[in-house]
Amino acid sequence: MTTTENHKTFCPMPGINAGMLSLQDLERITELVRKYDIPMVKVTSAQRFFFHGLEPEKHKELVQELGLPAKPPHARNRVHYVQACPGKNWCKFGSRPTEEMAKAIGALELAGPLPYKVKVGISGCRMCCCESWMRDIGLIAEKKGWRLIFGGNAAGKPRIGDLVAEELSDDQAVELVKKTLNYYLTTAKYKTRSARFMERVGIEELQRNVLA
Ligand code: SF4
Repeated sequence: MTTTENHKTFCPMPGINAGMLSLQDLERITELVRKYDIPMVKVTSAQRFFFHGLEPEKHKELVQELGLPAKPPHARNRVHYVQACPGKNWCKFGSRPTEEMAKAIGALELAGPLPYKVKVGISGCRMCCCESWMRDIGLIAEKKGWRLIFGGNAAGKPRIGDLVAEELSDDQAVELVKKTLNYYLTTAKYKTRSARFMERVGIEELQRNVLA
């Protein structure tokens, strides 16, 4: 890879689930980097892979080859992204596996469009390597079950999320995430992040509506 290119183009590598790569994914990324002489491949904090710095014509070809729309639609009835730590399957501290949970949350179909981006952080234990308290939805695994956090944010006006419930089974956790997001999308104003929404609504009101 060269470091002299300075085009500000970028595009994501599609199909990578919570940063977990198969041999085929790695080979495909290598093949693309060679073919397009991609100046920079970046692993983002959201555990996605982005190709940066291609000159515009090559960038257009790469976008076509990857089957990406020229202007990606904002799929607002789904979460924006899910980041997950290695979890119990791969980390000695993990209480529960995280991969299946990441897939289940990423695949959730909601009742309508979300007010704004929803980022998800899933951690396999209380050490919280995926910053679950600072994501719109946070899941933290414990021996007794999942803790669900809602309304965290790590941007310009950071907020620690609120604990919605704990000791949830896998199915209960997925169901409660869905209920919480459906409540958020039917109650919050357009373009209100979950952190600002929770400052207005408060945890007791949210719990009254989603834990019944
Ligand atoms: S959050 Fe816990 S299980 Fe996940 S990577 Fe960190 S230490 Fe391991």
